[in-house]
Amino acid sequence: MHSYLQKRCAPEFERDADGSLRDWRSLIPWRRKETQPMPPDDPRPGQGQQEQAFGREESVDRMEFLLSLRRRGMSDAAVLRAMDAVPREAFVLPAFAASAYADRAMPIACGQTISQPYVVAYMTEQLEVQQDHRVLEIGTGSGYQAAILSQLAGEVYSVERYRTLAETARATLERHGYHNVTVIASDGLHGLAAHAPYDRIIVTAAAETIPPALLDQLAEGGILVLPLGRHDDAQRIVKLTRTADGVTQQDLIWVRFVPLLPGQAREL
Ligand code: SAH
Repeated sequence: MHSYLQKRCAPEFERDADGSLRDWRSLIPWRRKETQPMPPDDPRPGQGQQEQAFGREESVDRMEFLLSLRRRGMSDAAVLRAMDAVPREAFVLPAFAASAYADRAMPIACGQTISQPYVVAYMTEQLEVQQDHRVLEIGTGSGYQAAILSQLAGEVYSVERYRTLAETARATLERHGYHNVTVIASDGLHGLAAHAPYDRIIVTAAAETIPPALLDQLAEGGILVLPLGRHDDAQRIVKLTRTADGVTQQDLIWVRFVPLLPGQAREL
């Protein structure tokens, strides 16, 4: 048994230096029309329509969160909008809610982690999800990545080997209205044949080899994004595209994920 802190997924990327937040709305296209920017020294809770539910600190954290994604090269407006819309604090453990918008992985139950937001955004951008897509995720964890996908895709299936995590994620997703996500407790190494083929597949745990079932369940023209490499070392995000002639592979950034392990977890 591991303490829940033991298997931390070390962040691979240093944090950017803090920039000015004053003009943040002009940098986030769908927020340009908001009329009442918060005065920098206003101690009252957020004034903008989207910040009503948050205190000033959370609002600032969320602005900084989006700006830092943009600074690091995330440019897909739909992905950024999804990252803006999904409340990460709902998916982390209560003890981590105050720092939910820090750009780092955080522990969740069962010794697993919620991935670093930059990596979530990066993998999502590489997945090129469209509104009519059926997407499969292996490694539900907290359900955060599934919630991001639900904003972009038609339907999302997400498989988790820990029943406890699957149940918690299902409840969180349900509570926050992500109704196009179905969470299944099972071994994702077999994919999810019942709803195959998938237009997009994302694996959010480190695979030492490409699981053949996932390639089998990928539609023609489909994209599979996964961290590939040894469990005891850094892995590479790999993007596989199925074409009529076979599968093409692109090796992308280095990351560090918890391992993709065979079998449904015996521990709950
Ligand atoms: N996407 C998650 C983070 C995932 S951490 C989030 O947004 O929070 C990786 C997850 O993959 C862990 O929860 C782990 O239990 C799960 N996992 C590992 N091997 C698996 C397998 N064979 N099938 C399904 N899930 C698996």
